[in-house]
Amino acid sequence: MLILVTGGTGYIGSHICVEMLNEGHSVIIVDNLANSDRAVVDRIEQITGKRPLFYEADVTDAKYMDLIFSTHYIDGVIHLAGLKAVGESVEKPLLYYQNNVLGTIVLAEQCLKHGVGKFVFSSSATVYGDNPSPLIETMELRSAANPYGQTKAMSEQILKDAANVNPEFAVALLRYFNPVGAHPSGLIGEAPRGIPNNLMPYITQVARGKLAELKVFGGDYPTPDGTGVRDYLHVVDLAKGHLAALEKLNPGVEVYNLGTGRGTSVLELVHAFAEATGIKIPYSIGPRRPGDLAVVYADPAKAKAELDWEAQYGIVDMCRDAWNFEKNFS
Ligand code: NAD
Ligand code: UDP
Repeated sequence: MLILVTGGTGYIGSHICVEMLNEGHSVIIVDNLANSDRAVVDRIEQITGKRPLFYEADVTDAKYMDLIFSTHYIDGVIHLAGLKAVGESVEKPLLYYQNNVLGTIVLAEQCLKHGVGKFVFSSSATVYGDNPSPLIETMELRSAANPYGQTKAMSEQILKDAANVNPEFAVALLRYFNPVGAHPSGLIGEAPRGIPNNLMPYITQVARGKLAELKVFGGDYPTPDGTGVRDYLHVVDLAKGHLAALEKLNPGVEVYNLGTGRGTSVLELVHAFAEATGIKIPYSIGPRRPGDLAVVYADPAKAKAELDWEAQYGIVDMCRDAWNFEKNFS
């Protein structure tokens, strides 16, 4: 298949491109480089021996997208292009709605116009709001706490409505839990600009000496050690989930959680990092981060049953590979 990967030079997208190319698919990347670097295209080629076609373009640019869809016979779209900083989305809600929601509309329109029947969308566990874990696809969604989360819920709804009236349109909505780690080659990984918002890149930067210590956001949650619990998923496992979803797509809309089903606390992750790397992360326990939930993890049974997909890597692997990338590329 020829797959268009939007956001393909980004953290998750680059790993998806590698898995697609390794499986013999061809890949076109569209990315405006708002949060990534064109050198990633070279690194994808270095890993796979195959070079994806790259367009530096904005997915909200309908004319440019029309040109790309007219030029290539695209079999499917994996849509990851989007802005993802929760805090920034509160500060700049219109930017987030414009970029993330309009991007989804433009791509769905182009698919319908050009007869592209397969669409995989990167959604997020954030659409479950404060539903209790384990989170299951059939749960009624609860209002996401910020504009970023709203753009995911809105994009899901837009794609459902479009598929409803276009019986050939096959859509998979993939709700990611916490993607971490990097490709074992150490050539691609998560390279946030500025101070990281997320736990794993914060830990690797403390390990590197770029940041003094980890601030643990809250030590008084109703969890075994008082710190927040999340479902961390190796980014290579996540990428493979896209391949599975794409290959099993049928007309209509299916929703899948991509998570391990296992919860890990902040301090457990810190200890796993020491086990993987020998580096002890200095930390102090501070106040909770506003908007954070105590416990978030997936019920991944549907993806296992229907996609024959399940996570292979554990948290020590995730820490080892995240550190390997940080050492190589900073
Ligand atoms: P990322 O920032 O590394 O990748 C996103 C890519 O999209 C970047 O390369 C950026 O330059 C590009 N982009 C943004 N807006 C664009 C536009 N209008 N046109 C073209 N390109 C554009 O982020 P990521 O972590 O790889 O996330 C990929 C997707 O997965 C995002 O949609 C994100 O919301 C979603 N997601 C991420 C997480 C996570 O924790 N990383 C969790 C759930 C969902
Ligand atoms: N966290 C933390 N310190 C940090 C960043 C995150 O203690 O510097 C905690 C956070 O409160 C949550 C977990 O680590 O319990 C994962 O946070 P992240 O932002 O990576 O993911 P999300 O909260 O979006 O699931």
